[in-house]
Amino acid sequence: MDYQKLAEILFPDVSDTPEMLEERFPCRNAPEGAVITRMAPSPTGFVHLGNLVQGLTSERMAHQSGGVLFLRVEDTDAKREVPGAVEVLINTLKHYGIQFDEGAAIDGDFGNYGPYRQRQRAAIYHVYAKKLVSEGKAYPCFCTEEELGAMREKQEANKETTGYYGKYAMWRDRTMEDIQAQLEAGNPWVLRFRSTGSIENQFKFDDVVKGKLTITENDVDHVLLKSDGIPTYHFAHAVDDHLMRTTHVVRGDEWLPTLPFHIQLFQALGFKLPKYVHIGPLMKMDGSSKRKLSKRKDPELALTFYKAEGFPVAAVYEYIMTLLNSNYEDWRRANPDAPATDFKFSPKKLNPAGNLFDYAKLTDVSKNVISKMTAEEVYALLLEWAQEFDADFAEKLAADKDYAVSILAIGRGGKKPRKDIAVWKEAKPYMGLFYDAYLQPPVFDEKFDKATIRTVLEKFLAVYDPADDSSVWFDKVKSITEEIGYTTDMKAYKADPEAFPGTVADVSTFIRQAVTGQTNSPDLYTVMQILGKERSIARIQAVLEKL
Ligand code: GLU
Repeated sequence: MDYQKLAEILFPDVSDTPEMLEERFPCRNAPEGAVITRMAPSPTGFVHLGNLVQGLTSERMAHQSGGVLFLRVEDTDAKREVPGAVEVLINTLKHYGIQFDEGAAIDGDFGNYGPYRQRQRAAIYHVYAKKLVSEGKAYPCFCTEEELGAMREKQEANKETTGYYGKYAMWRDRTMEDIQAQLEAGNPWVLRFRSTGSIENQFKFDDVVKGKLTITENDVDHVLLKSDGIPTYHFAHAVDDHLMRTTHVVRGDEWLPTLPFHIQLFQALGFKLPKYVHIGPLMKMDGSSKRKLSKRKDPELALTFYKAEGFPVAAVYEYIMTLLNSNYEDWRRANPDAPATDFKFSPKKLNPAGNLFDYAKLTDVSKNVISKMTAEEVYALLLEWAQEFDADFAEKLAADKDYAVSILAIGRGGKKPRKDIAVWKEAKPYMGLFYDAYLQPPVFDEKFDKATIRTVLEKFLAVYDPADDSSVWFDKVKSITEEIGYTTDMKAYKADPEAFPGTVADVSTFIRQAVTGQTNSPDLYTVMQILGKERSIARIQAVLEKL
């Protein structure tokens, strides 16, 4: 067979050569050890935690080695593409601190190794397709869907592996006449790889995350170009990662089964194989067993979920780092104030079997992260969140910034800061007591009679002076306690609760409930200082009216 001639027949318009492309996309002048890597998502509109894990892994690997991170949009499957998906993707990744040095971008793709969207690279793939055909390493296949279906049925009936391989590779060795007859009839064709592998052969392979693997050779003549001339992922991956001079391919381990084919393809094309970093899936506990996070069952897989709940970006980032590198937490304890990017990230520490996502842990990390922020920082992030997800609350926060900041300042700073808020959604229930519109009417414990509560509140109003310091304030509460025959001696009360109608704690609770509507709140003295005299008195009076 004259492969050269076949290549000309199949790709008459291709005049560029691989040499020309090699020259157009020269090796990068990167320092020794620099990682050149990429994110290569398909624009489906769904950005998930897995993307973030992959993104942060590649971002850290590139940037901490002085390398390059670029974004390549894998849009070869037009059917799956959702309009606006690329923008959503770029904005979401940026939100989480993943910035690209080159590649696809909203206001114009940039960089010297483009185009960075695969559909715009058809001509480039065809150069290599033509080369493979001319060397007898690829061939056109005219099988119809029906023929492929019948083949599969036959293989299933024979209990054989399904696929286009060996004796089932119907177009592998057809004559030029057969091929030309099909072309003349205008029949569609796909380009297939002529595999020289055998499943009898195995070889060793080193994956950065998975470690040493034993791989069985591929014997399937996989499709390289679909009938519309658009490449499959496999072929595009080899051509793109070679020409874009990728040193490390960081991707999900769902690609491991086709890795043997990818390795073959790089060899057939004469390309140096990049290093592979295959990331295991994110798992979660479901009862007592682990399973993969699923798009259908787990809303927490989507990154939009974290935004809507109100996890600060820094918290999600911090948690993912904790998840990926087990030594991150120790490092963080030793370096509480260092930027996360100072940590020496290692892809080798990723769990080869996939990491266990723990929502409770994320919440904990988030509480810590928020507790270390200043009140001003919390205010800014909370307001930003509320503007998108709770307009009414946003309005209240914006109406009096100083007031909101003073609320958020309670228990902040110092060695043991308060940890009331894990997500911005929890801020309103926590801060609500400071806003009349969100105040809940108190529900007093029925074991206390209303007359006593009334007496306490009246006495308190009579002596309350916002100029008091907290010890004077509390002394006044104690006096009221004694006046109504409750005890201030908590020890005595604990020893014999029956001996007392109530305690200073109950008296404080009556006042707390009247002022805040709740039985729990931050330090009541501080709360009243922030509420101010008028508002505090008005609230107690309103409760008295209803008692
Ligand atoms: N487009 C592929 C995906 O979305 C990319 C895999 C890779 O990074 O090579 O899974």
